[in-house]
Amino acid sequence: MASNNPSYLIIGAGVFGVSTAYHLIQKYPNASVTLVDRDAYDADSRVAASWDWNKVVRADYDDKVYCKLALEAQDIFKSDPLWKPYFHQTGVYWNCRSDYAQNVISHHKELGRNDDIIALPVAKARKLYGGIFDNADYTGVKEVLINRASGWAAAGDALTAVTKRCVELGAKYVVAEVASLEFDGRGSCTGVQTKSGERLSATHVVVAAGSFTPTLLEWSAAKSGNPGLKAGERILAAGITTGMAQLNEEQLKKYKDMPVGFQGYTPEEGKPFIGSLPPTKDGEMKWWGSKIFTNTREVLPGRYISSPPPTHDYNQWKVPGPLKQDIVESRNLWYGPESATWEMKKHRICWDAFTTTSDFIISPHSASKGLYVASCGSFHGYKFFPVLGKYIVQMMEDELAPELVERWAWDRQRPDSSQNVEYPNAEMRHLLEPTAKL
Ligand SMILES: Cc1cc2nc3c(=O)[nH]c(=O)nc-3n(C[C@H](O)[C@H](O)[C@H](O)COP(=O)(O)OP(=O)(O)OC[C@H]3O[C@@H](n4cnc5c(N)ncnc54)[C@H](O)[C@@H]3O)c2cc1C
Repeated sequence: MASNNPSYLIIGAGVFGVSTAYHLIQKYPNASVTLVDRDAYDADSRVAASWDWNKVVRADYDDKVYCKLALEAQDIFKSDPLWKPYFHQTGVYWNCRSDYAQNVISHHKELGRNDDIIALPVAKARKLYGGIFDNADYTGVKEVLINRASGWAAAGDALTAVTKRCVELGAKYVVAEVASLEFDGRGSCTGVQTKSGERLSATHVVVAAGSFTPTLLEWSAAKSGNPGLKAGERILAAGITTGMAQLNEEQLKKYKDMPVGFQGYTPEEGKPFIGSLPPTKDGEMKWWGSKIFTNTREVLPGRYISSPPPTHDYNQWKVPGPLKQDIVESRNLWYGPESATWEMKKHRICWDAFTTTSDFIISPHSASKGLYVASCGSFHGYKFFPVLGKYIVQMMEDELAPELVERWAWDRQRPDSSQNVEYPNAEMRHLLEPTAKL
């Protein structure tokens, strides 16, 4: 370790930050571990992407690295008493328009997993689960991947429970908005300054601020005069709309045992995968839209980058009409005409940080000693909650496997986003005022 008395300051209490705190406080029960977040962990409303009614927890990856990691995390969700109450093993039903299903199945075989995972022809699959997906869009679908081992987690509830456990184990939780990172005369990171002027210091500072990470690094670069701190092309903040319908008793009866549904698309079709989750305990069914949008704005005089709206709640509950329409269109990909009468209960814009490859960034920051970045969930980070911190601690201690060091590096060559259907595909203001583009 860099110091005899290491201390840890983690900016952001989403899954990247909380998992880091959880692994640190277990490994070093006497260390000073502090989480700082703009929202209290038990607040009624939070901006964290990780704070949600539910998130899919699956290991159906055609990328072997994430497949393995997701299996490791899912095993904890299924067996550890801290996580288990939040996991629901409903299975997934995935309309595949590429060789996705076969790739996933072969990874699971190679990893020695005997999960109940199969690929079925469309005609056979659509009869399953009482035919609830019979009205879905099967255009271009090659086969349907069914994995009964996957499911979803009550995301916000699990996040609260694990944060609470960190605090019980001795971690501190500070509610404050971080305005900038602080540095000593040699450029090493020494802590943060909050918006109200308070200083928090530590030997190790981890930026896990999700979609706000690029903005915080811009502010810190300007204040410190170190332009190397900026994220630049590495990280793009973007939002996705989610909608929730309140099902009535009869609808609930029909959908209560449904699996998670995915419509998977190819780069040629130009859509991200669209997911729909089973009803929550309150009978609300959630799905998301197909538009993943940046919000380019001036974060400093003359400096424009994508950043969530500059209000405390990122305007996440103020969802404009065109984005609600995106939700209607996604619903129609699954449930057909009968769903037109469903009562829409909630809409939310959820902000996350993206890389062109959807790889996380879990890395020392190359522009400052003592500074680390743990972010870029890229629309798929939640499911790794139980294990993220293990790898983030390994990274800080220089013990990460070379393959992961390379994947998650701050400085690495990245391909462009053209083959990544989950990369942001629009600018928010263009979606709201389509004529502005003309
Ligand atoms: C619509 C949608 C659906 C998704 N569905 C899934 C899914 O089904 N399964 C899955 O695995 N993943 C899913 N994801 C991805 C997943 O939610 C994210 O990748 C993951 O939650 C990101 O975690 P995080 O810790 O990086 O960021 P966040 O959870 O956003 O946490 C960042 C925290 O930093 C705090 N913060 C930011 N700036 C500051 C500041 N200046 N000062 C103090 N605090 C600050 C914020 O308050 C926040 O609490 C989805 C994402 C979206 C948007």
